[in-house]
Amino acid sequence: MRLIIVGPPGAGKGTQAEFIIKHFGIPHIATGNMLRDAVASGTELGKKVKAVLDRGDLVSDDILIALVDERLQQADCKRGFLLDGFPRTLPQAQALQKLLTGRNLQLDGVVQLVVPDEVLIQRILSRSQQGAGRSDDTREVAEKRLKVFRDLTAPVIEFYRSLGAVKEIDGLGSVADVTQRILSVLPRAAVG
Ligand code: AMP
Repeated sequence: MRLIIVGPPGAGKGTQAEFIIKHFGIPHIATGNMLRDAVASGTELGKKVKAVLDRGDLVSDDILIALVDERLQQADCKRGFLLDGFPRTLPQAQALQKLLTGRNLQLDGVVQLVVPDEVLIQRILSRSQQGAGRSDDTREVAEKRLKVFRDLTAPVIEFYRSLGAVKEIDGLGSVADVTQRILSVLPRAAVG
């Protein structure tokens, strides 16, 4: 099962991803987590991207495409994967298509979580108050990240919509309800 989960910051992608990966037995490839880990462990990559993450801007396409390319070649991706936070720009989406086609692989679906803006900001701010500890969970950076999403990532969703791959999911309601909605639109058996 090869999936992408997409939606604005605060839509619940990370939370839903945890259930989806357990259900299908696939790895969770969350580029934001990979970049934050790199920052925390002080690698060359981490040093390069820290300021960009703190501002709520996007890291360059080249860096992300290389990171995901390398990750997708690891053995645990043979059964599939769930990409979360990638692709976030049209060039990233086009690079991913090329990567997959070159390996004779196809996506099984793009899950789009839809949540109104005012709910998103509230969720992001309450995440920061609960001490989830992300340095980019402030109102100013949250608004910036929402704008970046609208300007750069919304076209990615349109790209996948034109391929007929997008499954639109209402992201409001309990975590379990949203998970149910997602699983109900995905194929039952892992395609592997
Ligand atoms: P996330 O956890 O997905 O919200 O990502 C946190 C931050 O990591 C983003 O605000 C970006 O700075 C960076 N990031 C994560 N994924 C990407 C990507 N695909 N392209 C560019 N920057 C990214």
